[in-house]
Amino acid sequence: MLDIKEPGFRENVDLMFRRAVAHLDLPPGLARKIQICNSTYTVRFGVRLRGKIETFVGYRAVHSEHMEPVKGGIRYAPEVDQNEVEALAALMTYKCALVETPFGGSKGGLCIDPRQYEEHELEQVTRRFAYELAKRDLIHPAQNVPAPDMGTSEREMAWIADQYARMNTTDINSRACVTGKPLNAGGIKGRVEATGRGVQFALREFFRHPDDMKKAGLSGTLAGKRVIVQGLGNVGYHAAKFLREEDDARIIGIIERDGALMNPDGMDPDQVRAWIGQHGGVKGYQGGEFVEDGRKLLEAECDILIPAALEGVINATNAERIRAPLIIEAANGPVTAKADDILREKGTVIIPDLYANAGGVTVSYFEWVKNLSHIRFGRMQRRNEEAHALLLVSELERLSADKELGWELKPDFKKRYLQGADELQLVRSGLDDTMRMAYQNISEEWHRRPEAGDLRTAAFIVAIERVAASYRAKGL
Ligand code: GLU
Repeated sequence: MLDIKEPGFRENVDLMFRRAVAHLDLPPGLARKIQICNSTYTVRFGVRLRGKIETFVGYRAVHSEHMEPVKGGIRYAPEVDQNEVEALAALMTYKCALVETPFGGSKGGLCIDPRQYEEHELEQVTRRFAYELAKRDLIHPAQNVPAPDMGTSEREMAWIADQYARMNTTDINSRACVTGKPLNAGGIKGRVEATGRGVQFALREFFRHPDDMKKAGLSGTLAGKRVIVQGLGNVGYHAAKFLREEDDARIIGIIERDGALMNPDGMDPDQVRAWIGQHGGVKGYQGGEFVEDGRKLLEAECDILIPAALEGVINATNAERIRAPLIIEAANGPVTAKADDILREKGTVIIPDLYANAGGVTVSYFEWVKNLSHIRFGRMQRRNEEAHALLLVSELERLSADKELGWELKPDFKKRYLQGADELQLVRSGLDDTMRMAYQNISEEWHRRPEAGDLRTAAFIVAIERVAASYRAKGL
């Protein structure tokens, strides 16, 4: 994907880190301590599949242990390598610091194309990989807590949780060893869509900052804004769906593996996803014009571009031609450091990955807390809140019965006011608050240090300062 003349993903993250550190006055050696990846474990293991032994290579990188457990997903993809997981682990450190989840950064990967295997084969491979990691405490509720990433989902997390529980039969907290589990295996409501929901909340907060919008030459609200999304996987799909259904944004472009779809009137991500499910790609879908060279659509005119798939898709070869005034990085590392420079020069505003896609790890944090507290959020308070609300509503009803006062309750007020918050509502509220607060911190930094230049540098600065403070508190 990357132009060979450009640095790789890990170097790109390092370059962005150094750009931010240049604005800080850290004690000698601390910047380097923060930047380096503490350790990466590589494992090669064999699994008997289809009558022969197949060898797999997997990684778990631990970038920073300034807080434990360390946190980050496990990716299944054929091109996974050490550099990639280390870059992703570093981003996890900064991401967690930015959204104030009490974790260090980690990331794992397995070189595998999951589409080539049947479910029971994937289960065998996943359990074996989990066994290898758990044996070394690289899966552990207090030390290292994986989650889904590209190519993995709730299903793999359930296998991992079960494998860990089998190996640690008396650990009462074993469910907290991994997040992103299905509800019936200790998951939390709202985790599946959390990253996409976080992208939506991030955009909403950006649109509450008129000065920031002005820098992108945007005005008004999200309603009617033209959006192009690259990758209709879990993150891209949910972001596009919520933006369309709840903010009236228009999804005018969808880029997928086999090509892209374009429709200036907007498309329904649910319909396109169903089509992909049946036909394996977007080609043939009638609701939009098919574009063979999908990557060309990254350069099309729109208001918001959402790269939500692989790293390095916006690089030195196409950055100059990107016309979107606002890019929100739903994927990790979709814009290379060189492209970042070109886009900054052009005045494009980029809402950076370490903030934009932090919704996933935020709700993972809620899930981990739920697992450790062994109780669903809202279970103790919900009916109590409703009883309190009923007191007020009954009193208001009594007063509104008095015609002389001349006022009445709106028909749906009672129903809405009486509803205590359930787990999903609490998760959404916590996620919304997290995304708002983090954006405000970044935006303040951006305005306080105009010389820092962009939201990415500002986000790195906020994150690095927090990691540095935590090292200092430890006496390092
Ligand atoms: N894989 C996701 C990420 O890159 C989620 C990580 C997590 O929930 O721990 O942020």
